[in-house]
Amino acid sequence: MDLELGSEYEAFRQEVAAFLAAHWPPAKETDARAAASAFRERAVARGYLYRSIPKAYGGSEQAPDPLKGRVIREEFARVGAPGELQGPGVSMLVPTLLACGADWQKERFVAPTLRGEIVWCQGYSEPGAGSDLASLRTRGALEGESWVISGQKVWTTMAHLADYMFILVRTEPDAAKHDGISYLLLDMKQPGVTVRPLKQMTGGREFNEVFLDGARTPKDWIVGERGRGWQVSRTTLKHERDTVGGQSRTEDMFGKLVELAKDAQREGQPALASGDVRQELARIEAYVLAQRYSAYRQMSMDLAGQDAGLIGVLNKLNGTMIGHHIANLAQDLIGDAALLMPPQGRGGNRRGDEKWVNQIMGSLGVAIAGGASNIQRNVIAERGLGLPRDGAEGQKGTGA
Ligand SMILES: Cc1cc2nc3c(=O)[nH]c(=O)nc-3n(C[C@H](O)[C@H](O)[C@H](O)COP(=O)(O)OP(=O)(O)OC[C@H]3O[C@@H](n4cnc5c(N)ncnc54)[C@H](O)[C@@H]3O)c2cc1C
Repeated sequence: MDLELGSEYEAFRQEVAAFLAAHWPPAKETDARAAASAFRERAVARGYLYRSIPKAYGGSEQAPDPLKGRVIREEFARVGAPGELQGPGVSMLVPTLLACGADWQKERFVAPTLRGEIVWCQGYSEPGAGSDLASLRTRGALEGESWVISGQKVWTTMAHLADYMFILVRTEPDAAKHDGISYLLLDMKQPGVTVRPLKQMTGGREFNEVFLDGARTPKDWIVGERGRGWQVSRTTLKHERDTVGGQSRTEDMFGKLVELAKDAQREGQPALASGDVRQELARIEAYVLAQRYSAYRQMSMDLAGQDAGLIGVLNKLNGTMIGHHIANLAQDLIGDAALLMPPQGRGGNRRGDEKWVNQIMGSLGVAIAGGASNIQRNVIAERGLGLPRDGAEGQKGTGA
């Protein structure tokens, strides 16, 4: 495998750097949010963001080229320029709609989601249906021109801020477990939807329970065919795994860990000078590099039009495992500060040791989100190694 990007991509890197030098950062007095939006618009027009999304839906419609995507991410990160928006809408629903949605759904929902004008949450998990997702019981019944939905969802990230939910509901109660599910879009701002926050151990309130009591959605707000929602949900889950186990996020965290080791003191000198800290950093770096090369492999397979599905599963599992190693060493380095309650709210006020407390606690959560690590291991064992199937059917990681 040739790991050099080559002169074509180095020239592209110069081009991106020149664009950034001209447009980022904005003038100091500008409103930060407006400046980020204006910058994103320019970057889309230039072909640097939302590259796989057609222009008609707000993307920049570039030829597939994961290496260019990588160069763009690296250059944007180098100067702290805003990249593509994150969240379930952009990273999970948009690719699902592009693959499985009706034209009118793409026209109506994709561009405003990319611009951050509408916010989505993911309504999959229920009490009793997490790893065994296909056991979900929330019902959807067609009454005239509307689906009427009743049941409960749980662990719904950002439901309290969301305008819409993409939701799995059981529409064919008599069909086999996987065949009775439909994938619907639902307006969250209606009387039949009640959102109750769940307080996390970080002190934050990003999760929710969502109670659905006769919530309504139009008949054609269904993605894919009636009763075939399980197949649609697999597309979403693939993108969820890629987001959670993303390699640039892991590398970014590792870079911060090295900085922490330089700043933290041990016996009157930087912790980085200590042999055991260096040893552990080297061990983690080996994982980080292995993850990088695994991501290159995934890219090469994508370029060759091959299905890299299982490599994505491996990357999710390894990415979250590395995050856990990083959190453990950070916990050791910040010492007693690890006992602090993390600061509330997202981004903004996190400083110094405190921000690591969020990372330490959060690293446990990402190993569960998008399919728990044990489930990913089951997938690798069954599909990759050909071991006998696990008893539980319809696991979230498998999409089986
Ligand atoms: C940070 C975060 C964000 C999330 N956001 C959302 C969201 O926005 N929307 C949404 O719908 N859901 C969300 N979830 C829920 C998530 O998808 C579920 O937590 C996950 O699928 C696991 O389900 P569960 O919590 O019910 O655990 P369970 O399925 O009850 O599993 C409990 C434990 O048993 C293990 N286990 C279960 N079955 C097996 C098996 N067959 N073999 C081996 N081990 C097994 C699991 O690995 C786990 O350790 C989020 C979760 C987290 C942590």
